[in-house]
Amino acid sequence: MSADRVVLVTGGNRGIGRAIAERFVAAGYPVAVTARSGQGPEGTLTVRADVTDAASVDAAFSEVEQQLGPVAVVVANAGITKDTLLLRMTEDDFDSVVDTNLGGTFRVVKRASKGMLKARWGRVILISSVVGLYGSAGQINYASSKAGLVGFARSLTRELGARGITANVVAPGFIETEMTAELPEEKKAEYKKAIPAGRYASADEVAGVVTWLASEDAAYISGAVIPVDGGLGMGH
Ligand code: NDP
Repeated sequence: MSADRVVLVTGGNRGIGRAIAERFVAAGYPVAVTARSGQGPEGTLTVRADVTDAASVDAAFSEVEQQLGPVAVVVANAGITKDTLLLRMTEDDFDSVVDTNLGGTFRVVKRASKGMLKARWGRVILISSVVGLYGSAGQINYASSKAGLVGFARSLTRELGARGITANVVAPGFIETEMTAELPEEKKAEYKKAIPAGRYASADEVAGVVTWLASEDAAYISGAVIPVDGGLGMGH
């Protein structure tokens, strides 16, 4: 039964990660979330982890393994933005975003792959963004980190595809969370005009796609980029 597989979602205390954790709980999976602050939703095990720190990621996985068992489904969701135009972007603005969004995914997936290889089964789901392939003025750091996840998932598919492990990217468009709440009103209205669906999505609409990718129905899908963007990227 796929619902016996242990799920770990990074950044599951709020936003999209929290909605993903809730969906997995509702589907009957044992679910752990990592959080730097706060707690995951009801029914989840919350472990502390900062994805920029490999030792902290390792300790979080060890705790999940002790309490729930080896992680079979990993959702690399934790991410940050530090938006500004190229000429104003500092080395730190660039490095910290890439280190969290892409480097964090590397640390988390590397640690998760050990158990998956042993089990010869695993689902790696990376939360990217429409911006990774569409581009976005003021987000060179963020878009680079999110585009990197596509090469990551495809290389992982080639490395581990024969071991029962799939790796896919989910690329959300504009989702109602704290991250988009920070955008100026006129920017939000401009984006809405460009989205064929004419609206932002709820975090739950992303979560439904993620739980489907973890299911047996998606066993033959790997290296894919699945947009959840109301048509903004036209399937990229
Ligand atoms: P939020 O800002 O609401 O949440 C971000 C999450 O990431 C929080 O749980 C945060 O933890 C965690 N996080 C950030 N840095 C670290 C770190 N160093 N170590 C561990 N956890 C960390 O974002 P969203 O829910 O909106 O976004 C979730 C993912 O979806 C991100 O990867 C984002 O890029 C992506 N995305 C979002 C879109 C949107 O429209 N909202 C669109 C496309 C993609 P803490 O609470 O401790 O800060």
